[in-house]
Formats: sequence, C-alpha cells, structure tokens
Amino acid sequence: MIRVPPQRGGWLEVVCGPMFSGKSEEMIRRLRRAEIAGQRVILFKPRIDSRYDVADVVSHAGVRMSAVPVDGYAEVVARARSHDVVGIDEVQFFEQEVVHAALELADGGARVICSGLDQDFRRLPFGPVPELLARAEFVDKLQAVCHRCGGPATTTQRLVDGRPAPYSGDTIVVGAAEQYEARCRDCHEPGAGAVAAAA
Ligand SMILES: [Zn+2]
Repeated sequence: MIRVPPQRGGWLEVVCGPMFSGKSEEMIRRLRRAEIAGQRVILFKPRIDSRYDVADVVSHAGVRMSAVPVDGYAEVVARARSHDVVGIDEVQFFEQEVVHAALELADGGARVICSGLDQDFRRLPFGPVPELLARAEFVDKLQAVCHRCGGPATTTQRLVDGRPAPYSGDTIVVGAAEQYEARCRDCHEPGAGAVAAAA
C-alpha cells in the first residue's frame, strides 16, 4: 500500500478498531514522531473518560501522553489553534459536531488524527466515527486478539456479571478490563433483546 500525505494543506487520519487493539498506543506513537520532527502537537480527549488519569491518555499497555480534556467542537477548534498536528482520542464519545472540528482543522492546514471505537458493543457504528471514516484521507482498522479463540478480534464484547450485556443497555459506560473483551465476529455474542431490536 502506498500512502502519500499531501504536499501542502492538512488532512484527516482515523485509527479505529475494538478495545484492546492498541488505538491509543498508535495515536501516541504518531504524535511522538511528529514532536520529534519539531511539529507543534496537541492531544485531546473527551471529558467523559476519566479512567486512569484526568490529564493523560493512557493505553491499556500503559503508554501515556498528556491530553487536554474537552467537551466538543468549540473547545477543540479554539485550543487546537497554532498546532500542526491535532490528535483526538476516544473520538466515539464526542457528539457528531466533532466531525466539523476535524474537518475545519484539516481544511485549515492541520494534520488531524482521530482514534476510537468504530463499533459499539452491539457492533453498530459508533457515534461520529462512521462519518470520520468516510471523510478521512487515511484509515487504519486495528485488530485485537479474540479473548475466546485467539483469532483476530474486530468487535468489543460487553459483559455484565460475565454474561453478554443486554442489547438495550447504554452505549457509553466507561469501564475497566473485566467488563469488556475483544472478540472476533464468530465469538461475539449478541446480548438479550438483539433479535427484537434488529427486526
Ligand atoms: Zn474468536
């Protein structure tokens, strides 16, 4: 695969995949490389995600980078000013308007990197991520290891007391490792109510 970043102007990259696929690590890797190149870098995260540390983006593997918690469009655009590279982690938790922030910044000349879950625990497209995928110049879909069979995992399984979470549960519950597993398509278990909801 050949990737040619634009010679001038900005662009949008998306790093997506299930939980435990290394999205935050990949985000941090890209931003660090830009920093080493002397570029002005800023990383945002949604204010909702308070796990581990308020001011840091921390991957499950423990890699960390300081991040600015923001609420959405206005704050992202205002605080991203004068930065060459703008990262937005856990982008699935933002409202749809975050897409406009990403596009505005890319149109204004910034390299914008968004990372997040492409599917929720029901395997439905998650929040603003589908539109970001469609709008991006570059897309990477990372895989995790299936908790059940060891194969390549592309979905996130939510478990409540060790059983598949009901289909009607809240989409957003920020949680720890014991509540979620990466699963392959074959091992992903729809929660109770999935058939009725899909019909
Ligand atoms: Zn599997």
